[in-house]
Amino acid sequence: MKKRLSLLAMFSLGLTLIGVGESADAGRSVRDYFESWLQPSGCSFCGRRVHADMQVAFQKNNEETVLMACCLRCVITEAEQTGDRIRVLWVTDYVSHERLRPDKAIYLVGSTINSDSGPPVEVPWSRREQSELEWDRCLPSVIAFRKRDDAVAFQQTSEGEILSFQDLVAATNVSSSTLP
Ligand SMILES: [Zn+2]
Ligand SMILES: [Zn+2]
Repeated sequence: MKKRLSLLAMFSLGLTLIGVGESADAGRSVRDYFESWLQPSGCSFCGRRVHADMQVAFQKNNEETVLMACCLRCVITEAEQTGDRIRVLWVTDYVSHERLRPDKAIYLVGSTINSDSGPPVEVPWSRREQSELEWDRCLPSVIAFRKRDDAVAFQQTSEGEILSFQDLVAATNVSSSTLP
């Protein structure tokens, strides 16, 4: 029992130390960042938590199985890295969480909204040196909207560029389902 308590204390201390490395403007803590990697049955590609406001359903290489991804950027990254052909069945309206046919949605790309990865933060890998997160498979972020007005409203506070599905996936092996 005593041993268990001291382990618990060490665990808490560890979390506290991680918390110290959090930069004031990070928005999400480093602890959130690591926890997002530990969710069971998350994104089919990266294992991150699948968020209700950004989830994406897709099929790979004409396979029947429908899989889930954390965001459309994660899908595009996978297609670029593997050369797999990926058909996106639906994306999610960031506002209403409603499922949308990918080519009917409008996208805010590279905004400061990063549900998956969080904004770049200083990661305290050790006490001696700090590593800056420079690349993330879910960045630049891609947020889907049903209404262009909503995309424009979010752009005003969170920056980014508004793109159609066609522009977003140009020169990739990612395509849209043609079903409603
Ligand atoms: Zn992912
Ligand atoms: Zn993602």
